[in-house]
Amino acid sequence: MKDSFDRIIDYMRISITDRCNLRCVYCMPSNGVEAVEHCDILTFEEIARIVRVAAGLGVRKIRITGGEPLARKGVAHLISSIKAVEGIEDISLTTNAILLGGLAKELADSGLNRVNISLDSFRPERYREITRGGDISQVMSGIEAAEKAGLTPIKLNVVPMSGFNDDEIEDFARLTLTTPYHVRFIEFMPIGGRDSWSSDKYIPTDRIMERVEKIAPLIPVRLRKHGPARYYRFENASGVIGFISAITHHFCNDCNRLRITSDGKLRPCLFSDTEIDLKPAIRSSDSDKEIERLLRLSIAIKPDGHNINKQSHLKSLSAMSRIGG
Ligand code: SAM
Ligand code: SF4
Repeated sequence: MKDSFDRIIDYMRISITDRCNLRCVYCMPSNGVEAVEHCDILTFEEIARIVRVAAGLGVRKIRITGGEPLARKGVAHLISSIKAVEGIEDISLTTNAILLGGLAKELADSGLNRVNISLDSFRPERYREITRGGDISQVMSGIEAAEKAGLTPIKLNVVPMSGFNDDEIEDFARLTLTTPYHVRFIEFMPIGGRDSWSSDKYIPTDRIMERVEKIAPLIPVRLRKHGPARYYRFENASGVIGFISAITHHFCNDCNRLRITSDGKLRPCLFSDTEIDLKPAIRSSDSDKEIERLLRLSIAIKPDGHNINKQSHLKSLSAMSRIGG
């Protein structure tokens, strides 16, 4: 399906839980965010039903996210139900990888294609501080298990923040010289853990790129048709480096996605709190007609761009852990 601005919508991100086993400083306050009631969280059967209807409208790629998706029991079962939906070609998962070590093989066997792993520091003590308690050795085991299970290419999501981890930008970039990883630098967004966001911690992509280019020239790479990241590689490198610039360079022109929150709200744009509640349609009828109508509506009202730079706008934004990034 195309939206009103001629963008093909073929990708759906589904947050399957708002709960998380970490409390990253850029995502949540230290005491977490107000939890969604259990009865309001979509069941796996409800999620699979939405995916079936969405696939009928042209959605081909699904990303499972959260909160921490692996903190919810039975994700492998959900993946196999999604895999069985006709039309779905690719299933990926965004995770902090704390629990991935023990689950990677089962997830791959169920039909998961790839993982994106959030990792903001290689230093154990600093990792613990940024995540407020995380153990980096678990993440490393998760990465190893994911590679072994063929959940590749492994994408590492890094949010550089001044005074926290910006001195590791070069280390992350150099990793691509020797590993096939996709290291993706994401601009720190004023969403979710808003109290932690400030303009002096935020580093625009141009400044990150300048530092990376001091290591060696960056060669542009075209990896796929749609998506928010711009990719580059160093000459002869095994991996690639991506930049996701939500704030400085609008990535809206290439937006190909719909989002569903853990409590069943369709969210046409990450940066707008406009939401369409799918739950009444799912829970009141066995017919898929209303779900289809709401999916079409959500595609029709996708805005052409966001206005995240307006401070007044930010106050209203929902927690990132509920939306799923
Ligand atoms: N728990 C999983 C994880 O951390 O990968 C999935 C959910 S998390 C909300 C999804 C992505 O959002 C992560 O890559 C995280 O780095 C990113 N994220 C969260 N808050 C952010 C912020 N304020 N600015 C930029 N990225 C953020
Ligand atoms: Fe949890 Fe992911 Fe948010 Fe970190 S970024 S607190 S791991 S949901």
